[in-house]
Amino acid sequence: MSTLDLLKKYFGYDAFRPGQEKIVNQILHQENTLAIMPTGGGKSICYQIPGLAQEGITVVISPLISLMKDQVDALQSLGVAATYINSSLTTDEQFSRLAEIRNGEYRFVYVAPERFDSNAFFSAINSLNVSLIAFDEAHCISQWGHDFRPSYRTVVQAVHQLRNRPVLIGLTATATAEVIRDLQQLLDVENNAVVNTGFARSNLTFQVVKGHDRQEYVTDYLKAHQDDTGIIYAITRKQVDQLYYLLQEKGFSVRKYHAGMSEEARKEAQNDFIYDNARVMVATNAFGMGIDKSNVRYVLHYALPKNLESYYQEAGRAGRDGEPSQCVILFSGQDITLQKYLIDQSEMMDEEKKKGEYDKLQAMINYCHTDQCLQQYILRYFNDTISSTEACGNCSNCDSDLEKVDRTKEAQMVLSCVKRMDERFGASLVAKVLKGSNDKKVKQFRFDRLSTYGLMKEMTEKELVSFIQFLVAEDFLVSEGGRYPILRLSKRALSVLTGEEKVYVQAAKVETTEVVAYD
Ligand code: ADP
Repeated sequence: MSTLDLLKKYFGYDAFRPGQEKIVNQILHQENTLAIMPTGGGKSICYQIPGLAQEGITVVISPLISLMKDQVDALQSLGVAATYINSSLTTDEQFSRLAEIRNGEYRFVYVAPERFDSNAFFSAINSLNVSLIAFDEAHCISQWGHDFRPSYRTVVQAVHQLRNRPVLIGLTATATAEVIRDLQQLLDVENNAVVNTGFARSNLTFQVVKGHDRQEYVTDYLKAHQDDTGIIYAITRKQVDQLYYLLQEKGFSVRKYHAGMSEEARKEAQNDFIYDNARVMVATNAFGMGIDKSNVRYVLHYALPKNLESYYQEAGRAGRDGEPSQCVILFSGQDITLQKYLIDQSEMMDEEKKKGEYDKLQAMINYCHTDQCLQQYILRYFNDTISSTEACGNCSNCDSDLEKVDRTKEAQMVLSCVKRMDERFGASLVAKVLKGSNDKKVKQFRFDRLSTYGLMKEMTEKELVSFIQFLVAEDFLVSEGGRYPILRLSKRALSVLTGEEKVYVQAAKVETTEVVAYD
């Protein structure tokens, strides 16, 4: 039976998705393979089809215990002999499953990486005809990955010891160039056996919403999407609780999930959501890892996420079935303070690490202020050189019907103010100076004597900060330095100051109508 026939027979699909066929064929030709595909790209089929096509057992190593059962149930319902062993089973159950595996009763065996620490398991596997080993979430193997799991390292060594040298495949949706190189070496994958389909999720529409009352926005959004399933992420437990009660009161079919709830309550909420007893899940980032729900139509971020890595992962839970889905951030400047506070309070991080986190937060803030295609912004951030470089045409920037207006003069005013303040202060003080504020700090540093003092007084401080953030996002200014970042001019700023480069802004970003001339 051809691999396409197997795809039809077992999964009911007519065609392979990008990358799948190549991966399947490589495995069948005994080539170790590294597959980099976006979430929802269809990674499971890449090892399930070869596992069905060839003799022998496929061992799938996954850190997501909660997903194993679902995957095994799904295979069993297709008539495929599959099982799993992990810490959710009693010791007795583990023993009896191991005995069944030894007897050759299964074609697919799902295990957590720790399983390979057990000699009994290793010798059982070693005595069998294992033809394929799949590493799900393979980025966890690399110490350069953002989610390195030490137990994965032992597995890698162990599988190289197996008698009959099974084919290895690593699968991941997040891998930097460094991680890819590391994984190639660890799994012994040739350069031309790396299949990278890029990170782009073309069925997702990205939006940033600013200046709306958030509760009102969410309520209107849910009303307009009554029949759809979605997740709303908030930062704190308190935020989750408040929003949950508000939405419940308004009669929406909603559940909540955060780490402050009992395990039982969380499980119940999660099941209600997964099995479509509730449409909306309001949650902190504790929710979602290992949840395989394909028909999530939207992911709203009620507040600013801490970085683009977590944002893309959380937003990426929308549209795993490939259908059009929306990812919306409701931006409010106050969230920056909250996120900074959370970094600052974290006892898990040393100063160096905190600095890194502040920089990542800055990139997230930039995302909310850029005028460019949001999809492209994300792909650039992840150094994705494979996906299309064309603007997506759907995100809130591409789709904006706002006119682009020339704000070069205002940009020059901001840049020269930053310069005159010796590039030693952050956005909020620069905004105060441009506003002409009587703030104590402004007086203390005698910034009220600068020629730029009060130069943009028609704008509110909030508008000024937002405009400054736009200039940072577009690389006219650099904002660096941890919790209290300092603004300095970028190379590009010079060409604006000399008038060589113009600055265009979507009309709503600077709401001033009257422009003060600047000499
Ligand atoms: P990933 O692990 O890459 O996030 P999955 O393996 O869970 O993705 O697949 C996501 C969804 O896409 C699943 O519902 C799966 O059945 C479906 N899918 C996978 N391959 C195909 C295909 N060739 N045609 C149609 N749907 C597919």
